[in-house]
Amino acid sequence: MELANMPPTGHFIGGKWVESASGQQFETMNPATEEVLAKVARGGMAEVEQAVAAARQALSGPWGMMPPKEHGRFLHTISQHITAHAGELARLETLDNGKPLSLAEEEVRGAARYFEYYAGAADKIHGEQIPLGPNRLNFTVREPMGVTAHIVPWNKPLNILARSLAPALATGNTAVIKPSELTPLTALKLAEIFAEAGCAPGVINVVNGFGEEAGAALAGHTAIDHLTFTGSVQTGRTVMKAAAEHIKPVVLELGGKSPLLVFADADLDLAVAEAVNGISTNCGQMCSAGSRLLVESSIKEAFVAKLAARLAALRIGPGVDDPDMGPLVSAVQVSRVTGHIEIAQSEGARMVLGGKRPSHLSRGYFLLPTLFDGVLPDMHIAQEEVFGPVLSLTTFADEAEALRIANDVKYGLIAAVFTQNIDRALRLALRLQAGQVFVNEYYTGDEEMPFGGTKQSGFGRLKGLAALDEYTQVKNVAVRMKGEG
Ligand code: NDP
Repeated sequence: MELANMPPTGHFIGGKWVESASGQQFETMNPATEEVLAKVARGGMAEVEQAVAAARQALSGPWGMMPPKEHGRFLHTISQHITAHAGELARLETLDNGKPLSLAEEEVRGAARYFEYYAGAADKIHGEQIPLGPNRLNFTVREPMGVTAHIVPWNKPLNILARSLAPALATGNTAVIKPSELTPLTALKLAEIFAEAGCAPGVINVVNGFGEEAGAALAGHTAIDHLTFTGSVQTGRTVMKAAAEHIKPVVLELGGKSPLLVFADADLDLAVAEAVNGISTNCGQMCSAGSRLLVESSIKEAFVAKLAARLAALRIGPGVDDPDMGPLVSAVQVSRVTGHIEIAQSEGARMVLGGKRPSHLSRGYFLLPTLFDGVLPDMHIAQEEVFGPVLSLTTFADEAEALRIANDVKYGLIAAVFTQNIDRALRLALRLQAGQVFVNEYYTGDEEMPFGGTKQSGFGRLKGLAALDEYTQVKNVAVRMKGEG
């Protein structure tokens, strides 16, 4: 696939494309071919300083003066422009990240939908009047936070960016974005789309670069007012500490080790299909990956047989050929995932299939879907996020045991229950420690549904109307009136 419609590869600051002060660049690669796709400007403190200043200035410019309905109209325009460029965006994402083209297309549709959804919300965000008696008028005002920072990972680069950017802009904030150095291209294309749509300078700014340089400079910057971080627990902790130095609010969307609980009365074909989907989508590189299967002992053999057959049938190849699974994002990610596989084997888990690269592909960061059976709840593979196509299967005897195993991890992002028993489904939905619980489906992930973690999966909610609370602060105004006569 040729690289038509490549966006500019500088930083987008104050409405202009600029190169790094240092003149340095870094390469972004195609993980399916290991070829260099583009050289991108490598920013650091100097570029973050400029971007934060531009975003601050934009707050007092035309954007800051705009009525909410105009913010909404602008977001709607962005949604339409994303849709108009959907083909280019999806191709860029597939080339940069490796994901199958149809998945990239779905994520681009999701990005457009975020802007559409929050466009409709922009003029419906308001405070309330709180009665305090005849001579008092008390009301609240919901104000933007100001300059919002968005540190974005590589697994769903455009979609995750849109997830926080759209509500931040709908509430009148401005933004500085730091894409992952592994996948910067769609954030740059989005900046180009904003410029094309007539965005005022400084409303969004993109600084490319490495996490330890540009990311750390942004997280620790005294003049940002809010930080959204999506990525690993380890980096989330670092970012939160940096923000704590200046008492900045953060939304942390971190990892997961999400369980699918499959009871003997479940529709097994449905549960198998959703389990395959939950671990193969994006090659398992999803915070929401369904990486733990908890299966009632009596159906284990039948379940494993069906599951293994479905996993073995998955088509693997370059994302541009639209297989079921593309490559992992990088050589580093392959070695992280295979490291987890080796630990699982050394601890005695039984590998049913996978564990190695597919023999028909000689280049690219490919790995076969991998299934472990006989996994005990305290094993490494049952506790740690792998972020690859590796599924671990543990059996349980009854509902109480299923719940105990499901909750006994440090994460709490998503959980799913497969059963025909409505009482059990609802009981578990209330008791599972997770930000989202699904019953007889896995991760439909619509934009209207509040999403976020409990425990070390993070805090704060994105998606849905809940996200609007993250990007506004409440001011209370109390007025004492002189009574007449
Ligand atoms: P990171 O958490 O390190 O990266 C996420 C984002 O943070 C990237 O934009 C990264 O930039 C940036 N970043 C890195 N270091 C810093 C820092 N010190 N200050 C500010 N920003 C920083 O993820 P990795 O790419 O290293 O992946 C490691 C593991 O993280 C994965 O194996 C997976 O388990 C998990 N992960 C989870 C995600 C999720 O959605 N929950 C998403 C991505 C990863 P850059 O990429 O340029 O270094």
